[in-house]
Amino acid sequence: MRVAARVILPCAFRRPTLCRHAHGARKYRRTLHRRSLTVFSMVAAQDRSKLMRRVGRENTRPELAVRHHLHANGFRYRLHVRSLPGTPDIVLAKYRAVVMVHGCFWHGHDCPHGRIAAKTNPTFWREKIDANRRRDAKKESALATLGWEVFTVWECQARDYAELTRLCAALNRLALSATQG
Ligand SMILES: [Zn+2]
Repeated sequence: MRVAARVILPCAFRRPTLCRHAHGARKYRRTLHRRSLTVFSMVAAQDRSKLMRRVGRENTRPELAVRHHLHANGFRYRLHVRSLPGTPDIVLAKYRAVVMVHGCFWHGHDCPHGRIAAKTNPTFWREKIDANRRRDAKKESALATLGWEVFTVWECQARDYAELTRLCAALNRLALSATQG
Protein backbone atom coordinates (compact mmCIF):
# COMPACT_ATOMS: atom_id res chain seq x y z
CA MET A 1 0.00 0.00 0.00
CA ARG A 2 1.35 3.41 -0.93
CA VAL A 3 0.99 6.25 1.46
CA ALA A 4 1.16 9.68 -0.16
CA ALA A 5 3.39 12.04 1.76
CA ARG A 6 1.94 15.50 2.18
CA VAL A 7 4.57 18.15 1.66
CA ILE A 8 3.69 21.70 2.51
CA LEU A 9 5.99 24.23 0.91
CA PRO A 10 6.72 27.54 2.60
CA CYS A 11 5.44 30.57 0.76
CA ALA A 12 8.09 31.83 -1.65
CA PHE A 13 6.86 35.40 -1.54
CA ARG A 14 8.92 37.62 0.73
CA ARG A 15 5.71 39.14 1.97
CA PRO A 16 3.35 36.21 2.55
CA THR A 17 0.38 38.57 2.72
CA LEU A 18 0.62 38.95 -1.07
CA CYS A 19 0.03 35.26 -1.55
CA ARG A 20 -3.60 34.40 -2.21
CA HIS A 21 -3.05 30.67 -2.72
CA ALA A 22 -3.94 27.98 -0.26
CA HIS A 23 -0.65 26.19 0.25
CA GLY A 24 -0.94 22.49 0.75
CA ALA A 25 -4.63 22.54 -0.08
CA ARG A 26 -4.19 20.96 -3.46
CA LYS A 27 -1.14 19.92 -5.38
CA TYR A 28 -1.97 21.70 -8.64
CA ARG A 29 -2.46 24.97 -6.81
CA ARG A 30 1.11 24.82 -5.54
CA THR A 31 2.39 24.04 -9.03
CA LEU A 32 0.54 26.99 -10.51
CA HIS A 33 1.82 29.25 -7.81
CA ARG A 34 5.43 28.29 -8.31
CA ARG A 35 5.16 28.67 -12.08
CA SER A 36 3.68 32.11 -11.69
CA LEU A 37 6.62 33.10 -9.55
CA THR A 38 9.19 32.30 -12.20
CA VAL A 39 7.22 33.89 -15.04
CA PHE A 40 6.08 37.01 -13.29
CA SER A 41 8.75 37.76 -10.75
CA MET A 42 9.57 40.90 -12.74
CA VAL A 43 6.00 42.20 -12.73
CA ALA A 44 4.80 44.52 -10.01
CA ALA A 45 2.87 42.73 -7.28
CA GLN A 46 -0.41 44.48 -8.08
CA ASP A 47 -0.16 43.38 -11.73
CA ARG A 48 0.83 39.83 -10.96
CA SER A 49 -2.50 38.27 -10.12
CA LYS A 50 -4.18 40.18 -12.96
CA LEU A 51 -1.68 38.79 -15.47
CA MET A 52 -1.61 35.29 -14.04
CA ARG A 53 -5.22 34.71 -14.92
CA ARG A 54 -4.41 35.55 -18.51
CA VAL A 55 -1.45 33.20 -19.08
CA GLY A 56 -1.87 31.29 -22.31
CA ARG A 57 -2.68 27.76 -21.25
CA GLU A 58 -5.15 25.01 -21.95
CA ASN A 59 -8.51 24.56 -20.22
CA THR A 60 -8.90 28.18 -19.19
CA ARG A 61 -12.19 29.32 -17.68
CA PRO A 62 -13.37 31.04 -20.92
CA GLU A 63 -12.45 27.93 -22.91
CA LEU A 64 -14.43 25.72 -20.53
CA ALA A 65 -17.42 28.06 -20.84
CA VAL A 66 -17.35 27.81 -24.65
CA ARG A 67 -16.92 24.04 -24.53
CA HIS A 68 -19.79 23.68 -22.10
CA HIS A 69 -22.09 25.77 -24.28
CA LEU A 70 -21.17 23.84 -27.45
CA HIS A 71 -21.60 20.48 -25.73
CA ALA A 72 -24.96 21.47 -24.27
CA ASN A 73 -26.09 22.36 -27.79
CA GLY A 74 -25.16 18.96 -29.16
CA PHE A 75 -21.80 19.79 -30.73
CA ARG A 76 -19.06 17.21 -30.33
CA TYR A 77 -15.42 18.15 -30.66
CA ARG A 78 -11.83 17.18 -30.03
CA LEU A 79 -9.53 19.26 -27.86
CA HIS A 80 -6.07 20.66 -28.51
CA VAL A 81 -5.44 18.73 -31.71
CA ARG A 82 -1.68 18.79 -32.11
CA SER A 83 -1.73 17.51 -35.69
CA LEU A 84 -3.30 20.80 -36.88
CA PRO A 85 -1.41 24.11 -37.21
CA GLY A 86 -1.26 25.95 -33.90
CA THR A 87 -2.95 23.16 -31.87
CA PRO A 88 -6.50 24.58 -32.03
CA ASP A 89 -8.40 24.57 -28.72
CA ILE A 90 -11.66 23.10 -30.04
CA VAL A 91 -11.88 21.09 -33.27
CA LEU A 92 -15.28 20.19 -34.74
CA ALA A 93 -14.19 17.72 -37.41
CA LYS A 94 -17.76 17.11 -38.63
CA TYR A 95 -18.10 20.81 -39.45
CA ARG A 96 -14.49 21.19 -40.54
CA ALA A 97 -14.34 24.09 -38.13
CA VAL A 98 -12.06 25.10 -35.29
CA VAL A 99 -12.85 27.42 -32.40
CA MET A 100 -10.02 29.41 -30.86
CA VAL A 101 -10.61 30.91 -27.44
CA HIS A 102 -8.31 33.89 -26.93
CA GLY A 103 -7.52 35.82 -23.79
CA CYS A 104 -8.23 39.52 -24.39
CA PHE A 105 -4.99 40.74 -22.81
CA TRP A 106 -2.58 38.22 -24.31
CA HIS A 107 -4.00 38.35 -27.79
CA GLY A 108 -4.63 42.11 -27.88
CA HIS A 109 -8.40 42.25 -28.23
CA ASP A 110 -9.82 45.71 -28.94
CA CYS A 111 -11.91 45.80 -25.78
CA PRO A 112 -11.46 47.28 -22.27
CA HIS A 113 -9.69 44.09 -21.08
CA GLY A 114 -7.40 43.99 -24.10
CA ARG A 115 -6.42 47.64 -23.80
CA ILE A 116 -5.05 47.33 -20.26
CA ALA A 117 -1.42 48.43 -20.37
CA ALA A 118 1.06 46.71 -18.08
CA LYS A 119 2.36 49.14 -15.48
CA THR A 120 5.85 47.69 -15.53
CA ASN A 121 7.76 47.20 -18.77
CA PRO A 122 4.94 48.28 -21.12
CA THR A 123 7.14 47.97 -24.24
CA PHE A 124 8.10 44.42 -23.36
CA TRP A 125 4.47 43.36 -22.94
CA ARG A 126 3.35 45.27 -26.04
CA GLU A 127 5.93 43.41 -28.14
CA LYS A 128 4.89 40.09 -26.61
CA ILE A 129 1.23 40.73 -27.41
CA ASP A 130 2.05 41.87 -30.95
CA ALA A 131 4.04 38.65 -31.47
CA ASN A 132 1.02 36.66 -30.24
CA ARG A 133 -1.23 38.47 -32.70
CA ARG A 134 1.13 37.75 -35.59
CA ARG A 135 1.26 34.08 -34.55
CA ASP A 136 -2.55 33.93 -34.37
CA ALA A 137 -2.88 35.37 -37.88
CA LYS A 138 -0.35 32.86 -39.21
CA LYS A 139 -2.17 29.94 -37.57
CA GLU A 140 -5.51 31.09 -38.93
CA SER A 141 -4.27 31.38 -42.49
CA ALA A 142 -2.57 27.96 -42.25
CA LEU A 143 -5.86 26.43 -41.07
CA ALA A 144 -7.85 28.25 -43.77
CA THR A 145 -5.45 26.93 -46.43
CA LEU A 146 -6.24 23.41 -45.22
CA GLY A 147 -9.94 24.16 -45.61
CA TRP A 148 -10.84 24.77 -41.96
CA GLU A 149 -13.27 27.46 -40.94
CA VAL A 150 -11.78 29.38 -38.00
CA PHE A 151 -13.98 30.96 -35.32
CA THR A 152 -12.43 33.14 -32.65
CA VAL A 153 -14.14 33.60 -29.32
CA TRP A 154 -12.62 36.29 -27.10
CA GLU A 155 -12.43 35.90 -23.37
CA CYS A 156 -14.90 38.78 -22.90
CA GLN A 157 -17.40 37.05 -25.24
CA ALA A 158 -17.13 33.64 -23.56
CA ARG A 159 -19.32 34.90 -20.73
CA ASP A 160 -21.90 36.28 -23.15
CA TYR A 161 -24.77 33.89 -23.85
CA ALA A 162 -25.87 35.76 -27.00
CA GLU A 163 -22.35 35.62 -28.41
CA LEU A 164 -22.12 31.85 -27.83
CA THR A 165 -25.56 31.33 -29.36
CA ARG A 166 -24.33 33.20 -32.45
CA LEU A 167 -21.35 30.81 -32.64
CA CYS A 168 -23.69 27.79 -32.56
CA ALA A 169 -25.86 29.35 -35.28
CA ALA A 170 -22.79 29.98 -37.46
CA LEU A 171 -21.71 26.35 -37.03
CA ASN A 172 -25.18 25.13 -37.97
CA ARG A 173 -25.18 27.35 -41.08
CA LEU A 174 -21.82 25.84 -42.00
CA ALA A 175 -23.20 22.31 -41.70
CA LEU A 176 -26.25 23.30 -43.76
CA SER A 177 -24.18 24.82 -46.58
CA ALA A 178 -21.97 21.71 -46.60
CA THR A 179 -24.96 19.40 -47.08
CA GLN A 180 -26.47 21.66 -49.76
CA GLY A 181 -23.27 22.42 -51.59
ZN1 LIG B 1 -12.15 41.25 -25.17
